[in-house]
Amino acid sequence: MDFNLNLDFSSQKKSESVRENSLYDLLIIGSGPAGLNAALYAKRKGLEVAILSVKMGGQVLDTSSVENYLGIQGATGESLVHDFISHVNTLAVPIIKDESVKSIEKIEDQFQLTLGNGAVYKSKALIVATGSKPRQLGVKGEAEYSGRGVAYCAICDGPLFEGRDVIIAGGGNSAVEAAIDLSKIAKTVTLVHRSQLRADQIVIDKLNSAENVKIHLETQITEVVGENLVTGVNAVDKKTNETLFIPAEGVFVEIGYLPNNELVKDLVSLNESGEIIVNAQNETSLKGLYAAGDVTDTPYKQIVIAASEGAKAALSANDYINHL
Ligand SMILES: Cc1cc2nc3c(=O)[nH]c(=O)nc-3n(C[C@H](O)[C@H](O)[C@H](O)COP(=O)(O)OP(=O)(O)OC[C@H]3O[C@@H](n4cnc5c(N)ncnc54)[C@H](O)[C@@H]3O)c2cc1C
Repeated sequence: MDFNLNLDFSSQKKSESVRENSLYDLLIIGSGPAGLNAALYAKRKGLEVAILSVKMGGQVLDTSSVENYLGIQGATGESLVHDFISHVNTLAVPIIKDESVKSIEKIEDQFQLTLGNGAVYKSKALIVATGSKPRQLGVKGEAEYSGRGVAYCAICDGPLFEGRDVIIAGGGNSAVEAAIDLSKIAKTVTLVHRSQLRADQIVIDKLNSAENVKIHLETQITEVVGENLVTGVNAVDKKTNETLFIPAEGVFVEIGYLPNNELVKDLVSLNESGEIIVNAQNETSLKGLYAAGDVTDTPYKQIVIAASEGAKAALSANDYINHL
């Protein structure tokens, strides 16, 4: 799918082109909310900055509607991305968007980024804002009904299922917390997990006290079923080997995220989930390398949080550059 298809940037100021091999103050990898807001803040600080990215807008483009970004009501993911990029374009930030970054090296005090086509870009500081992807169940029907009942973010899409029957797939803290939150909105919540719950006991107790929640443990979802929209899931109870159909209009897959950490996994410290560890200034373990948004260990993967972390990373990078 070409996500840039309907994005009209005709009002944009003409961006300078990104200059290969010259030394930028700051390069930013990624153009989701973290990368775009980092660029906005960096440029307003007077830094020589450029963005290197593949999918303009990042995961926001996968979002049908965004209802929790302060001050913006009734936005589609696409319209929000359009507004983000238009804003960045008023500052003429150069953007390379056709090639992914393949490698990062730190040579003395400079970062050297090599793209898939062999082009090389250099900078004094670097922000990695490469985002994440939700982990998928990998069962039949999941992709087909994604956005038509299958969802990956209970905080984002929960309110769309008010008064309906929903299923949560997963058994960790995020799944159990999603089930608790949804039990206040949905008619019924059925939590399905292939083994035992791995969440903290305190949240499990809270889940057990919700009257409209059912729990199927040691139960494997084998297929998402629907007729244009989701109607339920087929599953196997591993204790009895019986197959069962669980009806629902929504299936929330809450089995974690895969951070896009490939570029930096040998350069900076990661936590056990593979997220880049950052401090309150968005510094990583490598001097001059900052990270922001979903790729980091900052909790709650949300647009507003990624955007604000991008701003912090840019301001910290600016301080770093000023003291070089
Ligand atoms: C289906 C869905 C619905 C959601 N709904 C909402 C919602 O309603 N509200 C909300 O607040 N949040 C929502 N979220 C979460 C939100 O989209 C993310 O938290 C947010 O987009 C994270 O921003 P980011 O900038 O960190 O990363 P991303 O948006 O993931 O952007 C990462 C960027 O990095 C680029 N990139 C990655 N690797 C490379 C590379 N090697 N070279 C060059 N570029 C690279 C990508 O092309 C992309 O531009 C939703 C998420 C999903 C999946």
